[in-house]
Amino acid sequence: MDLGIGGKRAIVCAASQGLGRGCAEALAREGVQVTIAARTRDTLEAAAREIAAETHTPVMSIVADVTTPRGRAAALEACPEPDILINNGGGEPPGDFHDWTPEDWLRAVNASMIAPIEMIKATIDGMTARRFGRIVNITSSAVKAPLKNLGLSNAGRSGLTGFVAGLAREVAPHGVTINNVLPGAFDTGRLQVVLGYAAEQAGRTFEEQLALRTEAIPARRIGTVAEFGALCAYLCSMHAGYITGQNVLIDGGAYPGTF
Ligand code: NAP
Repeated sequence: MDLGIGGKRAIVCAASQGLGRGCAEALAREGVQVTIAARTRDTLEAAAREIAAETHTPVMSIVADVTTPRGRAAALEACPEPDILINNGGGEPPGDFHDWTPEDWLRAVNASMIAPIEMIKATIDGMTARRFGRIVNITSSAVKAPLKNLGLSNAGRSGLTGFVAGLAREVAPHGVTINNVLPGAFDTGRLQVVLGYAAEQAGRTFEEQLALRTEAIPARRIGTVAEFGALCAYLCSMHAGYITGQNVLIDGGAYPGTF
């Protein structure tokens, strides 16, 4: 299917590896002019080169911490008028809420909620003026069903979700959609961290923890970043203009509810 977005411009935050990279690859494959951001120059520039080689589409990279005003300004300077914005970050550390200080909470809310909202604020008026825009926030299945040890993430992402639900309806008349994609378990560095922590807490090996997690997923496997990127690209496509304000789970059936 031709997604109809060749030539559009996109910023993909936190995209040198993992889910963000999967989104960047899928968009570049459609001929989107992608700018990827992450903090570590070497891995970021290598990712840009690899995606460009795989997709035969030039990819720009900008070293930027998207949780800071300076980082966001750098990303926006590299791609001032994006048609597509993918908000993503590195995720919050797992832990016990007894140990978290107000500063930890503020850091989490800044990263999971305020940073994406600031990126939306900086880009959405241009999208509405051009009468086309696609914003996808990578959140988590934790928004629908909280994950153990991940209270910082469960809470901060819910704040973003509530805000976006309102804003999506306001910009819908102008051809701009905003959706959240909620990953379950995907094969990335982040999953290693989360499973590693859970294994340590339970006195299991990493492999045992991974097997337990996989067994709990009806699809009986961990998702791939290519699968994630394909969904993201579809939500950014011309065909998805009537989908907005949604929280789209991609989790191999792990969430047990009917809705
Ligand atoms: P990942 O494989 O660890 O990749 C994270 C990416 O984000 C890297 O490119 C990293 O590069 C970049 N990054 C981290 N902090 C950043 C910052 N402040 N500014 C700019 N770039 C930053 O993680 P992932 O699995 O793709 O996870 C992406 C998001 O999805 C996270 O919020 C995670 O919690 C969420 N999620 C993941 C899963 C899963 O199973 N993988 C499930 C649910 C939710 P640098 O470190 O060089 O900046």
